[in-house]
Amino acid sequence: MNADARFGPGHRILVTGGAGFVPSHLVDALIARGCTVVALDNFITGSKENVAHLLDEPRFTLVEADISDGLPTQHPAMVERFDAILHMASPASPTDFEKLPVEILRVGSVATLHLLDRAVADSARFLMASTSEAYGDPKEHPQRESYWGNVNPIGIRSVYDEAKRFAEAATMAYHRSHGLDTAIVRIFNTYGPRMRPDDGRAIPTFISQALRGEPITVHGTGNQTRSICYVSDLVHGILLLLDSRETGPINCGTEHEMSMRQLAETIVSLTGSSSEVTYITRSADDPEMRRPDLTLARELLGYEPAVTPEDGLRRTIEYFRERMV
Ligand code: NAD
Repeated sequence: MNADARFGPGHRILVTGGAGFVPSHLVDALIARGCTVVALDNFITGSKENVAHLLDEPRFTLVEADISDGLPTQHPAMVERFDAILHMASPASPTDFEKLPVEILRVGSVATLHLLDRAVADSARFLMASTSEAYGDPKEHPQRESYWGNVNPIGIRSVYDEAKRFAEAATMAYHRSHGLDTAIVRIFNTYGPRMRPDDGRAIPTFISQALRGEPITVHGTGNQTRSICYVSDLVHGILLLLDSRETGPINCGTEHEMSMRQLAETIVSLTGSSSEVTYITRSADDPEMRRPDLTLARELLGYEPAVTPEDGLRRTIEYFRERMV
């Protein structure tokens, strides 16, 4: 734990969506620092398996609840005040946008308001997990936090983009009107172990297809770009923001921008697969390019991502390979 850490032994942290991919890694890091962590999850896209290794840890409690229905305040782990609340819960993959539209809208809006109220009551630091999707299909490249975005408000992705934009607005409103200690992180495409092979995002899809020797299904021409971030780099960035007094929004990710075609070819090569790369219909409003401007993260937080795409992809491929046998 770094000497400037605001949150460590003796601090109680609430992590919503704690059994999900990114949040479960965050929970691990907070437990390793000595924090007491309560993870709230309804397992809509997460899995108990992601935190199974913590179930005997006395400083960890997993509470099953849908936070869009209100906080389970009767649960013994929810009674004592929290020092920080990290709102990480939300389905986040393109297939979820189609399958769980109302759930996504509710967890970004109603649940955010419930958690902000609790943060006010507890005088807790509130950290909102926002997204690069707040920029929509961006007209500015790379994306700086000052860019307002280009979002189709009624498109298929709008349930996610607009829910997160609402959550950002709500967070800033509570900061201004209640003086709440808040932070917003805009997370760019993150990958790593504990992603679901069938979650519809490019990296787990391509890796699963490559390991099974099936055609790799790239959307559209494959020229659209993403900048991919290994999960340990993201967790590092989120903890730097949590420990700071910054409000944000602050981008977090990497500048490792690559086209989907390059990503597919890299995965074929790293897996040693015989899969062919094929091209299928692209979904509506799919952003053309995406790369964070990391100036604020560097200057305000001292953030620097460390994992190369090859290294991160190798570790992720290993995780998927172990689960296929
Ligand atoms: P994930 O689906 O693995 O994790 C989300 C977790 O939230 C799951 O465990 C799910 O069961 C839980 N959840 C959803 N709705 C809930 C509700 N109403 N009540 C309780 N629990 C609920 O997804 P992830 O990729 O780990 O994303 C975590 C957070 O980071 C999300 O807020 C997402 O929007 C944000 N984010 C992720 C990325 C990325 O590339 N992974 C990019 C931008 C933003």
